[in-house]
Amino acid sequence: MTVPARIGLFGGSFNPPHLAHLALARLALTHLTLDEVRWLPAGAPWQKPAAALAPAALRRDMVTALIAGEPGMVLDERELHRQGPSYTLDTVHEFQSEQPDAELCLIIGQDQYARLNTWHGARELLRRVKLAVAAREGQPVAPPAAWADVSHTAVVLPLPRTDISATEIRARCAAGATASSLAALVGLPVASLLEQHALYRGQLRA
Ligand code: ATP
Repeated sequence: MTVPARIGLFGGSFNPPHLAHLALARLALTHLTLDEVRWLPAGAPWQKPAAALAPAALRRDMVTALIAGEPGMVLDERELHRQGPSYTLDTVHEFQSEQPDAELCLIIGQDQYARLNTWHGARELLRRVKLAVAAREGQPVAPPAAWADVSHTAVVLPLPRTDISATEIRARCAAGATASSLAALVGLPVASLLEQHALYRGQLRA
């Protein structure tokens, strides 16, 4: 009898991907004893403004650079190739038809958990995946206020506080930060790509 695969689904705009993402994915892999963590860059992150979104190919390349050589980390491009908004529920349906026995675990930070009730098909998502949530920037893990009466469980991932956000990195790029100064937030391979492609250097609207 084969043991069902345990797959972590880690979605985001990854605009750009950074070291807090990597810390979260590494922790999820070990804490939840996953076989792999699928990094799923969103093609069209429907809940985030599109103005400052780097091209999909570059976000993919930055994720590739960030996870290079990392055991258990796998880039999954499916949402980049899908037309229309990137709904996690569609991705879950795809995984469940490809690997019906796999156990799926959705890995998110508290900012996303707090608004999970607004996600497309959120209640169905709860029935189909296990949730794993990390506190973020001082915000402890807590369900959406609107879900006071919605029974569900979430595993808390004990991520050490890491105050890194893509928003801050984009602001630093816009202010002309060099690759060496960005490396502490994104690692040198991603920092080099940010510099090489002069990403987020223009007027930032979001
Ligand atoms: P932005 O600043 O543009 O909103 P972000 O830094 O939140 O971006 P995303 O790609 O939106 O990056 O995040 C993907 C996932 O990683 C989300 O579930 C988010 O909550 C989580 N995450 C990102 N940064 C952190 C962090 N510093 N601590 C914990 N979780 C994080």
